Amino acid sequence: MTALPRQARVVIVGGGIVGTSVAYHLTKLGWRDVVLLEQGRLSGGTTWHAAGLVGQLRSSSNLTQLIRDSVDLYGRLEAETGQATGWKRCGSISVARTAERLVQLRRNASVARSYGIDAEEISPKQAGERYPLMRTDDLIGAVWIPGDGKANPADITQALARGARAGGAQVHEGVKVTGVKLERGRVAGVQTSQGDITSEVLVNCAGMWARQLGRMSGVTVPLHACEHMYMVTNPIDGVTPDLPVMRDGDGHVYFKEEVAGLLMGGFDPWAKPWGMDGIPEGFSFGTLPEDWGKFEILMRHAIERVPALETAPVRLLMNGPESFTPDNYFILGEAPEARRYYVGAGFCSGGIAAAGGAGRALAEWIVEDRPSMDLWQADIRRFAPFHANPEFLRERASEIVGVHYFVAFPNRELESGRGLRRSPLHDRLQARGACFGNKMGWERPNWFALPGVKPETVYSFGRQNWFPQAAAEHRACREAVALFDQTSFSKFFVQGPDAESVLQRLCANDVAVPPGRIVYTAMLNERGGFESDLTVTRVREDAYFVVSGSAQTTRDASWIRRHIPPEARATLTDVGSAYAVIGAMGPRARALLSRVSGEDLSSAAFPFATSREIGIGRATVRASRITYVGELGWELYVPVEVAADVYDTLREAGGDLGLVDAGYYAIDSLRLEKGYRAWGRELTPDDTPLEAGLGWAVRFDKGSDFLGRQALLARKGQPLARRLVSLVLEDPELLPWGDEPIWCDGSLAGSVTSAAFGHTLGRGVALGWVRRSEGVDADWLESAGVEIEIAGQRHGARASLRAPYDPDGRRVKS
Ligand SMILES: Cc1cc2nc3c(=O)[nH]c(=O)nc-3n(C[C@H](O)[C@H](O)[C@H](O)COP(=O)(O)OP(=O)(O)OC[C@H]3O[C@@H](n4cnc5c(N)ncnc54)[C@H](O)[C@@H]3O)c2cc1C
Repeated sequence: MTALPRQARVVIVGGGIVGTSVAYHLTKLGWRDVVLLEQGRLSGGTTWHAAGLVGQLRSSSNLTQLIRDSVDLYGRLEAETGQATGWKRCGSISVARTAERLVQLRRNASVARSYGIDAEEISPKQAGERYPLMRTDDLIGAVWIPGDGKANPADITQALARGARAGGAQVHEGVKVTGVKLERGRVAGVQTSQGDITSEVLVNCAGMWARQLGRMSGVTVPLHACEHMYMVTNPIDGVTPDLPVMRDGDGHVYFKEEVAGLLMGGFDPWAKPWGMDGIPEGFSFGTLPEDWGKFEILMRHAIERVPALETAPVRLLMNGPESFTPDNYFILGEAPEARRYYVGAGFCSGGIAAAGGAGRALAEWIVEDRPSMDLWQADIRRFAPFHANPEFLRERASEIVGVHYFVAFPNRELESGRGLRRSPLHDRLQARGACFGNKMGWERPNWFALPGVKPETVYSFGRQNWFPQAAAEHRACREAVALFDQTSFSKFFVQGPDAESVLQRLCANDVAVPPGRIVYTAMLNERGGFESDLTVTRVREDAYFVVSGSAQTTRDASWIRRHIPPEARATLTDVGSAYAVIGAMGPRARALLSRVSGEDLSSAAFPFATSREIGIGRATVRASRITYVGELGWELYVPVEVAADVYDTLREAGGDLGLVDAGYYAIDSLRLEKGYRAWGRELTPDDTPLEAGLGWAVRFDKGSDFLGRQALLARKGQPLARRLVSLVLEDPELLPWGDEPIWCDGSLAGSVTSAAFGHTLGRGVALGWVRRSEGVDADWLESAGVEIEIAGQRHGARASLRAPYDPDGRRVKS
């Protein structure tokens, strides 16, 4: 064994499938000075006891692409390294017992095909032919994905380690990392049980230990271990190595062939968190006590599906811990708290499937010092410190395990960990019938129930129970005036003599405006893609108020801070918790505010895209003439302590104006009719403003350089082979929810990013990306025979580059 080096370019902590995959890919990218440290033996954490299912479909095309990378890699790894991997492309069948499950499977199959994965709906009879042990008389449908497979997780880990060693990496077992050294906010090295190593890059792939390891350096890694079980039988007649993987989501169970027997596991709705007081020292190749009581419900469902299980002798009940995150997506990327500190952990029972692609993506991120594609759903910057609170995590992780096999209804909200972040208006809005959803921990009204109606969403794939209420809120905003609680917005001050130059460099629009002006702008990466879209309000010569989406707080703060040069006299302060936001929106917004404010609110005195402090009753607030719903209105930024007073004042004044409270479902339908984009849905780091139809918010001529400018200039004037378009369904009964494939002239051309029912248009309305190699333009869209595929059926739609409602913005600016 080689001695532990005292210096390395990169130290990877953790020799599970993820850590070895990162090491393997770093060497493939040409890094040689790579050291992987494993406290026990390779794969001895969670990896060794994984069931080894590799299902390809994920909820975004880029995450799906990562799994496809895994599939490609696992298919060739054995030949490359000489180490067996157990990889077999056996295909998978997902079955439906209920109508709602079948809708979900059909939607999944649609999405899979739009991501380039072969997926086919089959009948229960055909499912039975592919899986003869299965009972099918209670099924109503199924989906077959031939490219899915299975692998032996421990063998893949060994193969990746072997490949990494062959590429020059050192792999040391029996070495525990006991501390991470930071200097001036950057990684400087690690302390280990066998001495220190200096290093400029650290990769935390420590599985369920990753939160603890992160804490040592102030890095937030929100994950918690939960018990996760499967059983394995002795050989059963009819079970062959080629038997597909089978998933029965309604029964919460899955099946896989294992040495001529069946491995059956599942995701019960409320799982048991484990390791509450930390993971015990020396837990390597460890298992947890059998819990037949907990497993029984899965067993019952499994026997319903595969009756042969009733009599098959059980060889093993495996109970192993796996780490789960607050939102069921894994955690990847550079930690916002420390430069060159990377995390790849929290794989939520999908680490075997994801490791190949996730390891590659993380290695690219490390080598290039930025992600090579949009990975927002997995990005570590989607979390804030509250997410790593152990009490919160314990509650949430228990629910998250079951989410795997919940029917993925649109708008489905999690029930655990709720009520944590409340706006100062929360109790008032609750008393008025608000049904709350949750974003970044904030409770936000989605819709308001009428008196006597329970404010609870009844989920379905059709019109949900809130449809008429959201329609009324929508109409009130278009025709009268509505109040929206938008307190969850991310809010920052960027201040100091160099604030302007810092923001000019970061923003694609020109923010060198007089105080009182609001600028809508993108922050772009070097590729010209959206890192964020936001409004920047100059409040003083040396101070800007920056507002962005609720989920982006950590990400935007991190991006801005990292781009403030060390010598610049500018600081960023997160003031999100200091201000409530009340949106007063609608044609009567001016009348409403005029009743409670002595200010001149006419268009001449208070034009669109301006902002200033005004009185509302007894309180002083910042009023910004801007809108996300496409109507005349003001966003009121209200100091938290006076928010309730301001709200009461507005409510009292507005009764006879038709004032209503309105929620986020109304915001969505209003903004989609108006074609307003949302970062994270329409706008991602892979999309440029030119393609997104936001070229008007880019000022090439502003007299100073900005991030992404060169990339945009290189594309400018060329045909746009991909563009963001607005879509309106022809059939008024149809309801898209997002992610549906878009067809043009009979060919798959893109997919929907956001969708809602547009109550002004009286039809489903959406935004989505469409591609065409010759270029997407208005003339072609006009005649392109556009269709949207909803749960396997295609429906006619109109597509346009302009917003379907009020395209000249007259009402917004009047
Ligand atoms: C019962 C069960 C079934 C599963 N089935 C599937 C499946 O079918 N398909 C699928 O895709 N996924 C499955 N999974 C999930 C999968 O096993 C995990 O997602 C994956 O193994 C995680 O790999 P990892 O490398 O992140 O973690 P680990 O394998 O736990 O590796 C982390 C390593 O870090 C080491 N370490 C921690 N701290 C330190 C330190 N301070 N110093 C040095 N080393 C340290 C640990 O010893 C450990 O070896 C299953 C999980 C369970 C429990």
